[in-house]
Amino acid sequence: MLGAIEAGGTKFICAVGDEKGQLYDRLKIPTTIPEETISKVIEFFKPYKLKAMGVGSFGPIDLNRESPTYGYITSTPKTSWGNYPIVPILKEAFSLPIGFNTDVNAAALGEVTYGAAKGLNSCLYMTIGTGIGAGAVVQGALLQGLSHPEMGHILVKRHPMDQYPGKCPYHHDCLEGLAAGPAIEERWGRKGVQLNECQEVWDMEGYYIAQALMQYILILSPSKIILGGGVMHQKQLFPIIYKYVQELLNNYISLPELSHYIVGPGLGNDAGIIGSLMLGQQALEKAN
Ligand code: ADP
Ligand code: ZN
Repeated sequence: MLGAIEAGGTKFICAVGDEKGQLYDRLKIPTTIPEETISKVIEFFKPYKLKAMGVGSFGPIDLNRESPTYGYITSTPKTSWGNYPIVPILKEAFSLPIGFNTDVNAAALGEVTYGAAKGLNSCLYMTIGTGIGAGAVVQGALLQGLSHPEMGHILVKRHPMDQYPGKCPYHHDCLEGLAAGPAIEERWGRKGVQLNECQEVWDMEGYYIAQALMQYILILSPSKIILGGGVMHQKQLFPIIYKYVQELLNNYISLPELSHYIVGPGLGNDAGIIGSLMLGQQALEKAN
């Protein structure tokens, strides 16, 4: 049995499962202050005999094993979680190998192992929700360097009709600042879910997402792109994204049929938690 934690800004999902991605038990815990949330997490796993644990976390996080703050959530705007030693605390509670990565890298790992990119050796998983982020598997391994990628904060060309200043506290009109759920809500004065019928909303949204995808495609060349997160519940976004990706790339490179290439998650809402389970499996293999 393996343990998995998908640590999110609004909720933590805890699960136990096996290396085949089968989940046997799970619990959703609201993200409040760390002491409260983590004590509930620890309580959930206590009855299980686990071999390893995987954590896919909101970030930024410290993934540098040489660093004294390895396994910490670092400079998050969620203040009570800033500099929080999540992995050291779980290690102390369970003494197990613990895999740790970003939530989106975990989701990419889940999708490449058992989801829409199963059998491929690369993929990109992008979430468009409260924030925007992406994780990637390249040549069979999760993309990581100096730190983890922060693909939601790239710069995009402004839509000619867009007067909205942008919501990112660091960069204002980066991709996340212009296209994450809260930016949609602030620009148009209503939540995304209430804007279903407004074509200009989704045209602008697709315009921004397609620009990001163009850059990810050109830089990483993923074999499959998976789009998740609350905003992607607007299924009409897919054809708009295909149209703009096609226009932007202008046949410069040849891609598979876009409706097969840019898809929703094969694991639905479980990409992150199943990926976290796989992070646990990887930690176990490394420890043996
Ligand atoms: P989180 O990113 O916090 O894990 P979600 O992926 O559900 O959670 O993203 C939440 C964001 O997605 C909110 O800004 C919300 O307004 C937006 N959202 C959720 N459902 C929809 C929908 N059906 N259509 C458009 N936007 C949505
Ligand atoms: Zn930004």
